[in-house]
Amino acid sequence: MNILVCPRDKLCLHEEGDDLVCERGHRYAVIEGIPILLVSEAEQTHIEGTRALALAESRDEASLPQFNVGDGEVDPFVRAAIGGTNGSLYQHLVGNLKEYPIPRLRLPHGKGKLFLEVGCNWGRWCLAAAAAGYSPVGIDPSLKAIRAARRVSRQLGIETTYIVGDSRFLPFRAEVFDQVFSYSVLQHLSRSHTRESLREIRRVLRIGGDALVQMPNVFGIRCLYHQIRRGFREANDFEVRYWTPSELLSEFGADIGPSEISVDGYFSLNVQPSDLRLLPAKYRAVVHTSEALRKLSRYFPPLLKVADSLYVSCRRRD
Ligand SMILES: [Zn+2]
Repeated sequence: MNILVCPRDKLCLHEEGDDLVCERGHRYAVIEGIPILLVSEAEQTHIEGTRALALAESRDEASLPQFNVGDGEVDPFVRAAIGGTNGSLYQHLVGNLKEYPIPRLRLPHGKGKLFLEVGCNWGRWCLAAAAAGYSPVGIDPSLKAIRAARRVSRQLGIETTYIVGDSRFLPFRAEVFDQVFSYSVLQHLSRSHTRESLREIRRVLRIGGDALVQMPNVFGIRCLYHQIRRGFREANDFEVRYWTPSELLSEFGADIGPSEISVDGYFSLNVQPSDLRLLPAKYRAVVHTSEALRKLSRYFPPLLKVADSLYVSCRRRD
């Protein structure tokens, strides 16, 4: 089943030479087999989107760097990007990563359901989704990240689909995904861009389908510290936007469907018990404490209010 459509008008795409073209004539380059389904007239949310568009315009595949990654080695893109994709507990691993940190998805077994990750970067959550029985599709505005995601999937022998695209203009037919997931992504967008993305997530979810989105809590202990350092000014560019739990419930509820909030973690925006073996003792203590508080928060709801990382789960009802 072809799920791709024009990100501008959602019309069908057909092949024309190496390009994909919609019925209204919007044309998209395909680079190394990767469709670049970005909207060039829109302000890009990430510099890598602008770079991907420039490469698509020139169609200069030959200028792309090639990597030969040996068995058991970690892809050089992932080794360099780990600090950005995985946050403050992982800075010691930049350039020094010996294995892929693949997290555990907090969702029931996928039973082959179609899973979309919005803002997948090198694909760690798509790999987690594949391990949990989903059929994953990842989208990201960065061609560099999507190329790395494809290399990693190939290297690990895991079937995935990766597309270059923008969360505000999802290039997918309506009502095709059973599960949408996004982690540490929408926090980097302005409120209006986040709402556009949420409405697009709703459009591509089938009725009865679910979204699970990780977001930072304005009242989180660590989040408050970062806001103090920033002087509580408005966030710019790619800086993190902090949301109150009630804002999350009302915005996600209005744009996707009935929503609930649960705790993802404390003291960092990316605490993954699955990565304990990669962390030094002081960070392992952070992860253990975070996990204990997360479990306690189920029985003592006020603890949710000071969690740093929250999950919003929503269901599309109609
Ligand atoms: Zn079009």
